[in-house]
Amino acid sequence: MIGLVIVSHSKMLAEGVKELALQMGQNKVKIEAAGGIDDDENPIGTDPMKIEEAIRGAYSEDGVLVLMDIGSAIMSAEIALEFLEDDIRNKVVLCEAPLVEGAIAAAAQAMSGSNLKEVINEAKNSLQAKNVLLQDEENQEIIPDEKNTELETATRNLQIIVPNKLGLHARPAAKLIEIVNTFEAHALVAVDDKKPVSASSISLVGTLGAKQGEILNFTLSGKDTDKLEKALLDFQASNFGDEDKEIIDSSKTVEKVKSESEGIQGIAASSGIAIAKAIWFKKDLPVIEKEHINNVEHEIILLQEAIKRVSNDLDSIQQKIANKLKDNEAQILDFHKLLLKDQDLYESVVNMIREKFVKASFAWSCQVKKLEKQYLAMSNEYLRERALDVVEIGNKVLLELLGEPKSKIVLKEECIIVTDELGPAETMDLDLNLLKGIVTRAGGETSHSAILARSLGIPAIVGLGDQIDKIPNKETLAIDGVSGEIWTKNHSNIIDDLRKRKKIDDEMRESSQAKAKAPACTKDGKTFQILANVSGAKEAKIAFENGAEGVGLFRTEFLFMNRDEMPSEEEQYQAYKEVCMSMKGYSVCIRTLDVGGDKPIPYLDIPEENNPFLGLRGIRYCLQNTELFKTQLRAICRLSANYNVRIMYPMVGVIEEVISANMLLREVQQDLLKEGIDFSPNMSVGVMMEVPSSIFFIPQLANELDFLSIGTNDLTQYLLALDRDNSSVAKYHSPFHPAVLEAIREILMRSKKAGLEVSMCGELAGNIKATNLLLALGLEKFSMNGPAIPAVKERIREINFSGHKLLKDKLSPIRTLNELKSAIGQS
Ligand code: PEP
Ligand code: MG
Repeated sequence: MIGLVIVSHSKMLAEGVKELALQMGQNKVKIEAAGGIDDDENPIGTDPMKIEEAIRGAYSEDGVLVLMDIGSAIMSAEIALEFLEDDIRNKVVLCEAPLVEGAIAAAAQAMSGSNLKEVINEAKNSLQAKNVLLQDEENQEIIPDEKNTELETATRNLQIIVPNKLGLHARPAAKLIEIVNTFEAHALVAVDDKKPVSASSISLVGTLGAKQGEILNFTLSGKDTDKLEKALLDFQASNFGDEDKEIIDSSKTVEKVKSESEGIQGIAASSGIAIAKAIWFKKDLPVIEKEHINNVEHEIILLQEAIKRVSNDLDSIQQKIANKLKDNEAQILDFHKLLLKDQDLYESVVNMIREKFVKASFAWSCQVKKLEKQYLAMSNEYLRERALDVVEIGNKVLLELLGEPKSKIVLKEECIIVTDELGPAETMDLDLNLLKGIVTRAGGETSHSAILARSLGIPAIVGLGDQIDKIPNKETLAIDGVSGEIWTKNHSNIIDDLRKRKKIDDEMRESSQAKAKAPACTKDGKTFQILANVSGAKEAKIAFENGAEGVGLFRTEFLFMNRDEMPSEEEQYQAYKEVCMSMKGYSVCIRTLDVGGDKPIPYLDIPEENNPFLGLRGIRYCLQNTELFKTQLRAICRLSANYNVRIMYPMVGVIEEVISANMLLREVQQDLLKEGIDFSPNMSVGVMMEVPSSIFFIPQLANELDFLSIGTNDLTQYLLALDRDNSSVAKYHSPFHPAVLEAIREILMRSKKAGLEVSMCGELAGNIKATNLLLALGLEKFSMNGPAIPAVKERIREINFSGHKLLKDKLSPIRTLNELKSAIGQS
């Protein structure tokens, strides 16, 4: 079926025309809008790369018709054609028809399966309808279509009474044309005794304006006259496809949706639609048992330390967000700090420990409850409300006294989890059969729980801030992981629409998954390797089913999280082995512990840091904690005896780190040799390219290593000085920034020169909007979350690799964001 592209200087106009044309094409025609430019300050304009994207989106073997508004829209569309491979370009036509009328006519014609020529004719004739309506009846003429020129002499008349309330309006008119064009027959139609028009032309049928109860006079001829007659009678019997009640209701619906408040907006973190009951998860406190102790002084020290830690936390929160705090929030924080300093409270707890020989946790929770009751009994409302703060700060200290909170989320039914923050380890522990979606107050697109949600194929929206409090517990919630919007049950119409969209999405996913295991091979035969990012066997299995050809990044830190002590060598060996087994012989690249930054592991006792992202992270920590590092290296080396594993160091910023890490690796291998334990001496070793400095010593890296993997998440964070976890700067954290793309280009060029294999495992690799671009920049090996694989493979299959030179040249060099936007048509 012919696809359509609507090009306008205004994004809204393009989208609006698309909406109208989709209606006319009964949602069967692929229609893409390419409107405006991605420049918030000056959004009016046209963008060749956006148009190119749209053409690719609407493309099928039958061809694409592009309709444009004025001036530079035409030029941009012409440039867009240059980006296309010859075989695609030959099937794309830029059409001079008027934008709105042309689009409507073309969509209706395309829906009936007409060829490109017929659709073009219909679009070009689309102004006829207006002409006819605005002229005298005498000036009307029948515009014969090709079929009419061959009218046979044997004709049959058929009269049909317009049955539906709204008459022959746009939708039934389009349906009528579809019916007529299905058969080898010709039809003229007239309302009552007016002049007949061709019944296979939307522009003419649209002029009839037949109302309910009026008679349509058909003159039918041709081979399939009988069939057409029957189909027309069926169409009448179906009330012209209208449910009169539904039409009236649906117009009300539009009103209703408009008048309701909009959905809640968060940061889209993992695509897909989820509709399920919202379940709020707040970390519950464990029950505190009364336990007797002997060492009173030890408990008092524990208490002092716990209070100190919470107090430090509050200080650092206050420092970080002082300028963003509203007055009342600042007051509450002050109140919390006062409570921590409160001598009465402190002494009452210490006295209880001393007098009753109980644990600090028990004494603290008793005294906090007492204080809560006192506040609840206050007559002043403001002070009564402070009881909640007493409980909140009380719980914070209690959790410190009890060590890491070990509360596990147990799901009992299908639901969308709503919570302040969901750690990666917690996410992994959830029952994936019941978990339909994730919504969190904190986080950004590349925070680790977001990455994990993508790997597990669970729709997620993060970074909601206070908006999250609008979500009621235990009520139906719908989330759209692409737009980042959330709707509560009040928006029942939108939820119904989303349900329909979800069904279509599911079907599309199933069909692309069916092809997932085939290689990612461009039209002209170049194959790209598509690997997966995983953090455990659960994800590895999902990735394998989605067509992963190995693991390009195994994030081992999740194995170390949410527990009290480091996993033993054997435990690590087993966990890594499980992932290798899921990959059925494909290679698995195991990244050594990337602790720190956004991946804290409390029992490792990393000293408190002001800037953890710039602190003791990744390889830096491992080189200062060699026992821990060597244990992990041993587990990986042992695995290399029987499995296809590789090893990768994270966060390398100076060459010495690689030299030291490799020395430790050799020590471990020597030890294994002495102990008679098998390992492969040829295991490949590589590093993540994520600290910008590493770009400048690639030749030296080539002397020490076998491969590199570009980590765009951290590379973006460090190049642009933007915390990847901070939702207030999330909109600036873009791997499409020209500086990041130039860095990628440099890495690809330098590693090629140095003879080093290079892949990409940052989130950019799994973004289909970037596939074209990455191919043009020279990337050949991609690693991404499992569920993203089928779509990226499909994207690669649509590309003609040799035709990429144009895009490559256009991208060299990328100097400004606007240049890039116009080159690739996105922000
Ligand atoms: C990266 O930084 O791009 C990366 C893949 O590693 P992580 O997201 O685990 O920091
Ligand atoms: Mg990283």
